[in-house]
Amino acid sequence: MTDVGRLRADFPILRTEVRGKPLVYLDNAATTQKPKIVIDAIGRYYEEQNSNVHRGVHHLSELATKLYEDARVRTARFLNAADPREIVFVRGATEAINLVAQSFVRPRLRSEDEVLVTHMEHHSNIVPWQLLPAVLRVAPIDDAGDLVLEKFEEMISERTRFVAVTHVSNALGTVNPVKRIVEMAHARGVPVLVDGAQAVPHMPVDVRDLGCDFYVFSGHKIYGPTGVGALYARLPLLESMPPYQSGGDMILSVSFEKTIFNHVPHRFEAGTPNIEGVIGLGAAIDYVRGAGLDAIAAHERDLMDYATGVLSRVKSLRIVGTAREKAGAISFVLDGVHPHDVGTILDREGIAIRTGHHCAQPVMERFGLAATARASFALYNTREEIDALAAGLRRVVEVFRA
Ligand code: PLP
Repeated sequence: MTDVGRLRADFPILRTEVRGKPLVYLDNAATTQKPKIVIDAIGRYYEEQNSNVHRGVHHLSELATKLYEDARVRTARFLNAADPREIVFVRGATEAINLVAQSFVRPRLRSEDEVLVTHMEHHSNIVPWQLLPAVLRVAPIDDAGDLVLEKFEEMISERTRFVAVTHVSNALGTVNPVKRIVEMAHARGVPVLVDGAQAVPHMPVDVRDLGCDFYVFSGHKIYGPTGVGALYARLPLLESMPPYQSGGDMILSVSFEKTIFNHVPHRFEAGTPNIEGVIGLGAAIDYVRGAGLDAIAAHERDLMDYATGVLSRVKSLRIVGTAREKAGAISFVLDGVHPHDVGTILDREGIAIRTGHHCAQPVMERFGLAATARASFALYNTREEIDALAAGLRRVVEVFRA
């Protein structure tokens, strides 16, 4: 198990107060807080190491390039990728999915081809596929929020050109059996992208064990900075893909007659990249590896079980999403109270949760709701914070009963 007290001390923001109350931060699926080593890595970069990468022969440029490329090696190891060249740094999960949609899927599409997603996707794993000249097929989920796997398998046809599924649902917390999904798709020769935005903070991920072709995640959801994330792509696939954006750094040579593109992964990193973001992401990966992903997963499983029990006992509260396996987040509604009111009243007590559609409107529509409230957990959360949430929710119920 993790020593939560010790880990909490690594996060300066957790010592702050909100409206005179200690901050209870339960909005981690939206973004996580940052440990001091990530904040320091970014500060140190600007104070001691700042320079552009892949460009100069001077000391600082070589140093910044080394730090940037070291972060790539660490990211590859983190996902158990076979080669650091399989990691492309991007702005986040959203950009990674757009890159794959435009650069891998679009050139391969024939008329009436299909892209298969699930009903529990984040908008970032829906809209990029809608921009393609392809038919979007949607595999159903059941009333618990589990993917209906037999139906999913049935929907893979000769027309299916690509499968894109989330590893963990941000709105329901459902953990998808992605290894099985990949096997089903590969049995029909269909490549698979896994959206790992809500998975990497909560469990060890091994892309080679999953067998997926693409895996994407965002730095800010795993204790790193915003504006940076990673795309993992199997090397032969990445090498077959044309550039997504163009400009400096993604070329070997340019003339007005002919431009020769750089090797992968640099071919996909046009322009000056988010250097401090990548360095911060490397520090965040070191941090979670230091804490231990198995230990984090065990701690968060305890929090999820505890919160499910405690919240179920709050009168008129209904948990939305009761899948067989869940991670990271619990969505719920209170009878007769709009989720936004729940969030606003809790905020007065220093408790931060998310309310709304969670960028997953089809999930809301599936459950006949406009919005839910969502508590989401990180390695630094405690059972006491869940008790504070439950007490706050009881007060919300009282306010609305009065
Ligand atoms: N996919 C899932 C499951 C998410 O939860 C999110 C963000 O909430 C995203 C994709 C998009 O991540 P970002 O906005 O960091 O690109």
